Amino acid sequence: MTDKIVGILGGGQLGRMLGASASLLNVKVVILDVGETGPAKQVLAPLSPTLAHVDGSFADPEKIRELAAKVDVLTIEIEHVDVKTLEDIQSIPRQTPLAIHPSPATIHIIQDKLRQKEHLLSQDSPVSEFCPVDSTEESVRSAAVQLDLPLMLKSRTLAYDGRGNCVVQQVSQIADAISALGKRPLYAEKWVPFVKEIAVIVVRTIDGEVQSYPPVETVHKDNVCHLVFAPLRGHDPTLPQRACAIAEAAVKTFTGAGVFGVEMFLMEDGCIFINEIAPRPHNSGHYTIEACETSQYENHLRAILNLPLGSTALKVQSTAMLNLIGHSSSMDEITTTTNAALAVPGATVHLYGKSECRKGRKMGHITIVADSDAQLRDRLRPLLQSLPSSTP
Ligand code: ATP
Ligand code: MG
Ligand code: MG
Repeated sequence: MTDKIVGILGGGQLGRMLGASASLLNVKVVILDVGETGPAKQVLAPLSPTLAHVDGSFADPEKIRELAAKVDVLTIEIEHVDVKTLEDIQSIPRQTPLAIHPSPATIHIIQDKLRQKEHLLSQDSPVSEFCPVDSTEESVRSAAVQLDLPLMLKSRTLAYDGRGNCVVQQVSQIADAISALGKRPLYAEKWVPFVKEIAVIVVRTIDGEVQSYPPVETVHKDNVCHLVFAPLRGHDPTLPQRACAIAEAAVKTFTGAGVFGVEMFLMEDGCIFINEIAPRPHNSGHYTIEACETSQYENHLRAILNLPLGSTALKVQSTAMLNLIGHSSSMDEITTTTNAALAVPGATVHLYGKSECRKGRKMGHITIVADSDAQLRDRLRPLLQSLPSSTP
């Protein structure tokens, strides 16, 4: 299909699912991540001694160069990578050219949430109000005057699963919020009283064409994605098309190929704001493996390898994805739910092979497909009932 070798910066669950898709297409993959036995490396035997996986951090310039020397196309499963090194590597001429997808410029914009919001605003993508702050009480106090309370104080960089977000309800909480976020570079967002969170996976080709997956509803618990439902249901028949149009327009403003996850807030009056964009396969797109004609992982590979994209259409009537989030250091609670899933028709268990279970850590997910929403609810019920009552 292609002789090109793909290098992935990061070897967690997204790298594992990209690797599983790559193996179906005979696409060779080399992983850069710390350790020898992370989620992605477990499913991808090293191709040869010269194409061995790289043991190191995706933020380490030397290790990124080591990976780049082995491959034809570099891609990411996490945006918190060292962009300066990617730019340097791209500017060095080599015998077989190296492609980097998405482009380092795209990763640079997206990995800083304030820069990302400023970019989206400048491109007329709908975002709710935000403002820069420095990590002083005075600065956050003036943000509170501008944006009103409550507000969401956010880390500009290295945020995931809501770690890096802190709600400020009252001025008296500002000092604690700043220290909770560890003196990292911050910005403030107006509190968004959304009625629903929705997401659209968009795949972008090397030529800049975009194609969306069906919009989904995402349900978060304590800032972490808990459930995803597709297709999107609601009273407004224009909503799916409007959500796709906003997501596609936003993704068109970036450069480079691959999948983007566009997280959005739906307001009571039907208006949509973009929350954030991930320049890679996304948690809200796990369901595409079982429920769509082509998964987000396969389409990411097709896009970065300049192969024709596959259909993004839903191939089932109704689907849901349940994240398996660690409850403690024990896998017992997860196993209870995966055992329950074994008895549910249409349920597929995905475990990520993480060496340690921790409270709040994503350990796996379950996708359920069904012939109707009613059947989906019946199939989902025993899984939800199996969760510990105080699931994080
Ligand atoms: P991830 O990358 O894992 O999706 P993150 O750490 O980047 O998460 P955000 O997506 O910024 O965090 O926020 C996590 C959740 O917090 C959102 O999905 C939403 O439920 C809530 N949230 C974020 N920003 C706001 C806001 N301005 N107003 C109200 N709720 C918000
Ligand atoms: Mg995020
Ligand atoms: Mg998010």
